[in-house]
Amino acid sequence: MKRQIFAPEHDAFRETVRSFLAREVLPYYEQWEQDGIVSREAWRAAGKQGLLGLAADEEYGGGGTADFRYSAVLAEEFTRAGAPGLALGLHNDIIGPYLTGLATEEQKRRWLPGFCDGSLITAIAMTEPGAGSDLQGIRTHAEDRGDHWLLNGSKTFISNGILADLVIVVAKTTPEGGAHGLSLLVVERGTEGFERGRNLDKIGQKAQDTAELFFHDVHVPKENLLGELHGAFVHLMTNLAQERLSIAVAAIAAAEHLLEITTEYVKEREAFGRPLATKQHIRFEIAEMATECAVTRAFLDRCIEDHSSGGLDAVHASMAKWWATELQKRVADRCLQLHGGYGYMTDYPVARAFTDGRIQTIYGGTTEIMKEIIGRSLLG
Ligand SMILES: Cc1cc2nc3c(=O)[nH]c(=O)nc-3n(C[C@H](O)[C@H](O)[C@H](O)COP(=O)(O)OP(=O)(O)OC[C@H]3O[C@@H](n4cnc5c(N)ncnc54)[C@H](O)[C@@H]3O)c2cc1C
Repeated sequence: MKRQIFAPEHDAFRETVRSFLAREVLPYYEQWEQDGIVSREAWRAAGKQGLLGLAADEEYGGGGTADFRYSAVLAEEFTRAGAPGLALGLHNDIIGPYLTGLATEEQKRRWLPGFCDGSLITAIAMTEPGAGSDLQGIRTHAEDRGDHWLLNGSKTFISNGILADLVIVVAKTTPEGGAHGLSLLVVERGTEGFERGRNLDKIGQKAQDTAELFFHDVHVPKENLLGELHGAFVHLMTNLAQERLSIAVAAIAAAEHLLEITTEYVKEREAFGRPLATKQHIRFEIAEMATECAVTRAFLDRCIEDHSSGGLDAVHASMAKWWATELQKRVADRCLQLHGGYGYMTDYPVARAFTDGRIQTIYGGTTEIMKEIIGRSLLG
């Protein structure tokens, strides 16, 4: 089915993204995977190319558009290229809304120009060693000390954790914490007492730095409170819908791409004197995956359109997230199987997609938590 959600300006943007990937990302990607981190120059180049801060106002150097289809194009192209390490989607779609939607005018002037030109790389730190799915269990806390917050605690699994210049930290600002006692505090690189732990060794997404963060008596200026005091839970619930859609968009793009490369592979690879593609089992595998991808694509494109016009709710974003990421996981596994032993070799894209994609059903809210959200909306 021909996709109908894009206009010529989105197609032109897609070409820009493709040439950016060919020029600034793919030649360096293997090195970044070995290093466990991408270069800061790549972020600068993305800023220069206009790929950062798509939704930020033009006066701060942003793209000035709330049209999520541009973000979708970016996610699709980075996924097809097998380059999730340069986490522009995290910066734009997941962290961007906190800065554009919650920051005061003064904070916008301080942070958005760097956010848009790639000199301020961002992270969001919710998860802790003892609190992932259940954010009400967060223990990192900040005490009101008059002109500053005194922040103590630790976070783990934070994407961009090593590179980040600005980290939005979710912390308890009342002794009990929970739904009405959490706030968002922005901690800046170089603040005394803010330390980074290891760059964590993951099974996939090797070029993406994922780290532990530690806060020991960190003085966070009062003017670095983002959004409402004790309002973090509501802010998170509002913005997590876009985060989930963004992950789902990458998931369906990954599944479609895996299907394409596997379709080509089974046409070329021969066994028992004939191409694999002549065997009924293989044909059924491809047919089933193509059907599942097409059905999912229709739903996802509708979600992208709804979100671009401000109409996607948290429940449908949760449906998109668990469904598309579970599909990605199934397709990656089946496509790897169809590649035989070659599928297990890391120089084959299918192997990389298998390990890179495995996290998708976990971060941004697990499949189980997505089903909880949907179930709660239907059953109370
Ligand atoms: C590569 C990577 C990058 C990440 N990036 C970030 C980041 O940038 N910022 C950030 O804050 N976090 C990040 N995370 C953390 C991620 O969001 C969490 O790992 C995730 O939310 C799950 O939390 P957890 O690991 O504590 O698992 P747990 O919450 O301990 O869950 C373990 C299992 O129990 C299930 N479970 C939990 N509660 C329920 C329930 N009520 N009903 C049924 N099943 C349940 C879960 O679905 C899961 O299968 C990242 C993680 C990884 C691995």
